[in-house]
Amino acid sequence: MEQQFLEELQHIAGTDKVHQMEPMSRHTTFRVGGPADVLVQPDYKTLPDIIRHCRKYGENYFIVGNGSNLLVGDGGIRGVVIEMVTDQQSLIVSGDRVTAGAGMLLSKVANFAADHELTGMEFASGIPGSIGGAVVMNAGAYGGEMKDIIESATVLDAAGCEKILSLEELELGYRKSCIIKNNYVVTSVTLKLSQGNPEAIRDRMKELNEQRRAKQPLEYPSAGSTFKRPEGYFAGKLIMDAGLRGYRLGGAQVSEKHCGFVINREQATAEDIHQLIEHVSAEVHRQFGVKLEPEVKMVGER
Ligand SMILES: Cc1cc2nc3c(=O)[nH]c(=O)nc-3n(C[C@H](O)[C@H](O)[C@H](O)COP(=O)(O)OP(=O)(O)OC[C@H]3O[C@@H](n4cnc5c(N)ncnc54)[C@H](O)[C@@H]3O)c2cc1C
Repeated sequence: MEQQFLEELQHIAGTDKVHQMEPMSRHTTFRVGGPADVLVQPDYKTLPDIIRHCRKYGENYFIVGNGSNLLVGDGGIRGVVIEMVTDQQSLIVSGDRVTAGAGMLLSKVANFAADHELTGMEFASGIPGSIGGAVVMNAGAYGGEMKDIIESATVLDAAGCEKILSLEELELGYRKSCIIKNNYVVTSVTLKLSQGNPEAIRDRMKELNEQRRAKQPLEYPSAGSTFKRPEGYFAGKLIMDAGLRGYRLGGAQVSEKHCGFVINREQATAEDIHQLIEHVSAEVHRQFGVKLEPEVKMVGER
């Protein structure tokens, strides 16, 4: 990476926002992952210039929200990681619409909606991602998905130009959207909610979060469900039936509490997790002929 590129990046973003050789284990919920050459935490104003700057120098960039669906390899990430930062100023309510900056955590947006007596977002209140990441993944739980509540999203294209995408244009499907294939960066999201009873909203959020705590291994680092739901099956059940409950490889383990989660049981490396995912997929395929596809995004160098 050229020194001039770095100096100009520091000038655009601010020196304190640019970190060299930053361990990605600090920025992912799996708590694994080697260093990013550079990690920058820009505010929304400087983001378009940072994208243009990377483009001008031909540097790759990768966007990270809350890092809750990522498995970054032990070799780290070459190029620039742009981490979307939480910005308290970026929550706005207007009637039954809420607009949030992309780095804002879903739990914060859900609480804000509840404060304004708006219902519809309860299902997402316990998903530990940013709202930008939730659009990219069309995150969902307990019968709800982001697709049900999104009205539009503002994105920057690869040239750093702003666009507003409607719900249809976002092409939301099961844990996917058009964002990654178009190299867009989501900068804000507008949700269309509806008026509700504040007590009922809070009760529902509490109930769902209790269910999560009871069923999911939240006491260990993970990236949530490791695999997508294969059509006609449940990944967790297949993995349990394959006899892999609690199976360990290095520091990585198939959770005993919920077999659909691979957890970082004890100082796992990303390689431990990779190999465990491969082993689980191969075993389930061998025993049941079902192909498990990772929901977790694997990025960087192994
Ligand atoms: C304990 C636990 C429970 C979970 N439960 C659920 C669940 O119930 N339902 C569910 O759907 N998921 C769940 N997840 C997975 C995860 O929280 C979601 O996928 C979430 O939407 C990811 O958001 P994030 O901000 O962490 O994205 P990241 O993990 O940081 O990134 C995910 C992808 O989105 C891209 N991205 C992120 N932000 C932007 C942006 N602003 N612009 C462009 N691209 C961006 C990244 O490049 C990456 O490709 C769980 C995870 C954990 C750890």
